Amino acid sequence: MVRILIKEMEEYAKKEKIPIMLPDGIAYLEQYLKEHNIKKILEIGTAIGYSAIRMANVNEEIEITSIERDQNRYQKAIQNIEAAGYQKRIHVKLCDALEFETEEQFDLIFIDAAKSQYIKFFEKFDQNLKQGGTIVSDNLDFHGFTKMETRIESKNLRQMVNKIRNYIEYLKNNKNYQTTFLEIGDGIGISVKQ
Ligand code: SAH
Ligand code: MG
Repeated sequence: MVRILIKEMEEYAKKEKIPIMLPDGIAYLEQYLKEHNIKKILEIGTAIGYSAIRMANVNEEIEITSIERDQNRYQKAIQNIEAAGYQKRIHVKLCDALEFETEEQFDLIFIDAAKSQYIKFFEKFDQNLKQGGTIVSDNLDFHGFTKMETRIESKNLRQMVNKIRNYIEYLKNNKNYQTTFLEIGDGIGISVKQ
């Protein structure tokens, strides 16, 4: 059942140009959850609930809080999560992640929202991550632009790419976390809290 829903969501995302995780990226994340016995997850950027449903599908102990600020995507996510039967394990919050407050402690935080705010998300939710927990950051390659050596013409794009480069530097210099950069999907950072 869930497998069919996942296929439908992939087609919907393609048609509506919703940037869900790429196939090898989400496959890697699923494997990571299994290997590290992850149970409690905070996701920043739900979109239509695709990655949340795939993560919840790994095993029945996984519980996810996911934040989405776009009303339409939020509605779509709620529909999809109900169709999957995961409404007891995936809790979607309609708000800006920077305004979301919680005292809960998570095993893993998945950052997959506005690229310009990654450092802010990281710093805000660090306190909600257990010792030894992981922050996963998606889209660090940004379609290959992050590593491009020639000057990027479009000003907007250049600013966006610079934000991601700053974030990568920030992760490299952050002594409280050990970060590995993987060329999987659109580029993933795995930062383990020391
Ligand atoms: N994780 C999803 C894809 C998320 S796409 C998946 O792989 O299936 C990024 C989403 O983050 C978008 O829907 C966008 O509306 C949302 N977003 C961006 N900035 C945000 C913020 N500050 N707070 C909450 N949601 C945000
Ligand atoms: Mg992404």
